[in-house]
Amino acid sequence: AEELLRNSERLAVMGQLAAGLAHEIRNPLTALKGFIQLLQSAPGDNKGYFPIMLTELDRINFILNEFLLLSKPRPTQFRETDIRVVLEHVVTLLDTQAILNKVRIAIEAEEDVPPIRCDENQMKQVFVNVLKNAIEAMPDGGEVTVCTFRTEKGVSVRIADQGGGIPEELLPRLGQPFLTTKEKGTGLGLMICRNIMDNHNGTLTIRNGPERGTIVDIELPAAAGG
Ligand code: ADP
Ligand code: MG
Repeated sequence: AEELLRNSERLAVMGQLAAGLAHEIRNPLTALKGFIQLLQSAPGDNKGYFPIMLTELDRINFILNEFLLLSKPRPTQFRETDIRVVLEHVVTLLDTQAILNKVRIAIEAEEDVPPIRCDENQMKQVFVNVLKNAIEAMPDGGEVTVCTFRTEKGVSVRIADQGGGIPEELLPRLGQPFLTTKEKGTGLGLMICRNIMDNHNGTLTIRNGPERGTIVDIELPAAAGG
């Protein structure tokens, strides 16, 4: 049943990401089209355009790969991983959706962060869910900060938004299935996150910020020997 739920949540998240995906790909495609039109009519040596065009093509490729990886159910694979790289990929995937919502995602990371043992795809699902909640909490835009630092036991990722925060009475119930305050919410995101964090011997805690907004702490143990 857990697996089924995880799949249905995956589908819901993928559906929401798909809207952003269209924009993600339209932008580099428009840029490419422009350059090709330029090349068609411009005389002389235009090699200077090629690196830009290749970069745009790489970006389309990257976004599609990430999207396909996230959408496919795969057997769990625990590997030693630099969590900062995983976060960068997730933020790249969500950036256009964030910009469309006038949200800026700022990434900060300590240089000295130990590797963790994780299933990269599952951890991406956690970050996508938490970041989407942060973006959705700020309908008028704002900033999300993603801070990665070393802890005594491993790594902590702190994701903080500037939204309206969570009503106190809801806090103890977060992670219960179908608990949602959103018109189009599934109320499955945090439940799946908790489940994945359990699989990783990690924790996910949510609290309200000192002034406003929500702070999510995702803690993971360092890989043995790491
Ligand atoms: P959904 O996003 O589909 O509603 P989730 O399990 O992801 O389901 O979240 C459950 C509920 O927790 C949300 O409906 C919302 O009320 C609350 N919540 C989660 N994250 C935040 C956040 N960053 N800011 C405000 N409320 C939040
Ligand atoms: Mg959610």
